[in-house]
Amino acid sequence: MTLPTWLQIGRMRLTHALTSPPRPLPSQGRCALLYHGVTGEQAFGANLRFNSRFVSAQRLAGDIALLAAQPQVRFVPLADLLTEGEGFRVALTFDDGYCNLLHHALPVLEAAEVPATFFITTARVLPGGGGEPLLWADRIDLAAQLQPGPLHLGEERFVQDRHRQWRREGDGVALKQLCRERDNLFLCELAQALPMEAPLAERPELEPYWRLLNEEELQRLAHHPLIELGAHGVTHIDLPALSSADARWELRNAKRWLELVSGREVTQWAYPRGAYSPALLRMAAATGYRLQALVDENAGEGGLRDSTIVRLGIHPYLTSRGQLNAIAAGGYGRR
Ligand SMILES: [Zn+2]
Repeated sequence: MTLPTWLQIGRMRLTHALTSPPRPLPSQGRCALLYHGVTGEQAFGANLRFNSRFVSAQRLAGDIALLAAQPQVRFVPLADLLTEGEGFRVALTFDDGYCNLLHHALPVLEAAEVPATFFITTARVLPGGGGEPLLWADRIDLAAQLQPGPLHLGEERFVQDRHRQWRREGDGVALKQLCRERDNLFLCELAQALPMEAPLAERPELEPYWRLLNEEELQRLAHHPLIELGAHGVTHIDLPALSSADARWELRNAKRWLELVSGREVTQWAYPRGAYSPALLRMAAATGYRLQALVDENAGEGGLRDSTIVRLGIHPYLTSRGQLNAIAAGGYGRR
């Protein structure tokens, strides 16, 4: 039996990635890497079963070990990349603020003595106990697998496509797209329509896939010598989609609450999904963020070069060697 074409191509690419010689890193340079969650999964690819962002702890350790083996590489805190320095300097960042960072990323960082910034979504620590322990995107991803079927939100009905993504009946607009474009009220409706507390309570082994860091864990991390805490918004909505008053609310309150909980000043900010505008760069700077982390895809708009850092989003489907080659090339699809 012959393999499907896509599988053959995938296998050829994997073989190429495993057998091709590693591309040398430049002797001088800087690179900020963007990770999300880190799981303790041992089985190959198991870390990708609920989303396409998480890596395993082995993959993280492999990335660090390959980089550390290059004599010119120095791991530095993210803020160090704002200034000049010797060698090829690498800073690690982790977005969203999952509890799995404490259990699976931190031990790897400690063993290798590598510093990192954790950018925290503060939905978990909203005052008055009204916070959400999980991000809306994870609510959708987990519910899509644990509670499949049509979904009603107000007048709208959503059905799942063959990738289990909910799409609006009629025009096929993805539910996640609507979440990015609407407001907090829509996210509250979503939480009511997809109650996950009971199904997740029955599956404690899934906690690393959704639970955000709580107050006590954030306090511990804030005092860890290798870890810097930065803010990543309250609700994880794209800031350019919001009114300027709502965007300001996200910037201010994420900072305020994280400072309240951690007892430390918070001066670093990462845009949810990397979405920003020149006006937002100025607004964030005025809010007190001295460092703003961007993402490679949308960093074309300049401005505030002394306080912005473009990050390379790591590719969870690559091997550590493939990732190293992408770092050496300065991105994907470049030679
Ligand atoms: Zn994020």
